[in-house]
Amino acid sequence: MLTKFDPTNLKACLSLLEDITSNANQIQDSVLEAILTRNAHTEYLRGFLNGQVDKQSFKNNLPIVTYEDYHSYIDRIANGEPFDLICDRPIIVLLASEKNCTSLLRNFTWVGQTQSMYCQLLCGLVERGNVSRLGAPFASTFLKVIKFLENHWSELCSNIRTGRVSDWITDANCVSGIGKFLEAPNPELASLIEQECSKTSWEAIVRRLWPNAKCIEAVVTGSMAQYIPMMEFYCGGLPLISTFYVSSECSVGLNLDPLSKPCDVSYTTIPSMAYFEFFEIKKYHQETGHDPVVVDLVDVKVGHDYEPVITTFSGLYRYRLGDVLRVTGFYNNAPQFRFVGRQKVVLSIDMDKTYEEDLLKAVANAKLLLEPHELMLIDFTSRVDSSSFPGHYVLYWELGCKVKDVKVEPDPEVMEECCFAVEECLDSVYRNGRRNDKNIGPLEIKVVRSGAFDELMSFFVSRGSSVSQFKTPRSLTNEEALKILEATVVSKFVSRKVPSWELHELHSSR
Ligand code: AMP
Repeated sequence: MLTKFDPTNLKACLSLLEDITSNANQIQDSVLEAILTRNAHTEYLRGFLNGQVDKQSFKNNLPIVTYEDYHSYIDRIANGEPFDLICDRPIIVLLASEKNCTSLLRNFTWVGQTQSMYCQLLCGLVERGNVSRLGAPFASTFLKVIKFLENHWSELCSNIRTGRVSDWITDANCVSGIGKFLEAPNPELASLIEQECSKTSWEAIVRRLWPNAKCIEAVVTGSMAQYIPMMEFYCGGLPLISTFYVSSECSVGLNLDPLSKPCDVSYTTIPSMAYFEFFEIKKYHQETGHDPVVVDLVDVKVGHDYEPVITTFSGLYRYRLGDVLRVTGFYNNAPQFRFVGRQKVVLSIDMDKTYEEDLLKAVANAKLLLEPHELMLIDFTSRVDSSSFPGHYVLYWELGCKVKDVKVEPDPEVMEECCFAVEECLDSVYRNGRRNDKNIGPLEIKVVRSGAFDELMSFFVSRGSSVSQFKTPRSLTNEEALKILEATVVSKFVSRKVPSWELHELHSSR
């Protein structure tokens, strides 16, 4: 469907981009036709289309689904049933994403990933002068690497000094890969790195260790935006570039203006990646049960919010991605979106419904109160505690100090103000529920010890997530994961004031 092109030829790539974005509608129709024709005989499509492959039959007969609707098919494929349940080609890998956490990649362990991360860092340090950009898929992953460096720099330096990699690196690919770079002892380089890493502050450490780096490639939009202050702190002002908007399910869009500020980043949809439909999000209407509107790629409207619904070559049909995107404009005829957040309600006790976007905003506001005290919010998650009446929101915060090796001791008054600042930012339904603690109790922040979120990640990785993909869930319901976090709590604070509330706010729709 796409003309062949040479991906190393910049001109050819740009001309292809112009072509597919200009002909977005035609490309989308031909993508859908190709997907349906190829997969018409699969068990899934036969059940709904009975051999018909036209767009109208697709629209009329195929339901819009979520992961739950697909669960049984994925399980059957994982259990070795023929692949043509959903797709005409062999399915050779199943990715466990934050959204589905399919426990299929159990043997791809954290141990292997640790060795790989260690060797990549070692290689990057040996080649420090030649590194022109650094990156990881997401800002959260990038910060995990910095943390890993913090814990391992002394050992890495010793490897560079002796020219020998540590004995615990046993993975054959890692050993042979690093052998190509770590060829001889280099005590000068080891001392130089040691000098930088042992300074009291790790401010601009990335820039200091990799002086020729021009930018950092890591997604810092959507829920990743909360990590921008930390990224800026460690990277010393290097441009942060969010290159793409992709998911395990399919790639959706590219940032065609890579140097734009994180808050201005829009992703241009690439119409050849999949067949895209968009579910218009009007939270108020959804809650009142009105029919949702689903439109085609080229029919979205600037300023409106949508959830992508994708149909892919690999066997997902009208599958809801769960993200919220806001249309900011068009590149030729392909819409551009700002990533807003995840669609799902993350916290709810009574009539209140707190969406990820609301929670992120409220926490971003509250954490400003930490700044004068040299504290940083490293990571957070939340849950509802309904073990007492009324139930209340609990946030787990891992704090870090801007000055290295200084103990984190948050002032109770500041933390109580943070609890209140979060509440003040939540919507009027929440704040009304808080009046006289009628339906919702005071919000609580539990500070967890340093490294708690690494333990949480290890737990999810042991269940199939990959380190590079891992994104901290903004709310937790998994009992085992909660137990891990509860065991790391070092102090607790609650809101001492009742947030303000005004009657007229209740009548305004979201
Ligand atoms: P996964 O399914 O684990 O591969 O994660 C994909 C999810 O990460 C997407 O559905 C989004 O929620 C999020 N994501 C991917 N790219 C971006 C981006 N550029 N900005 C914000 N969030 C993103």
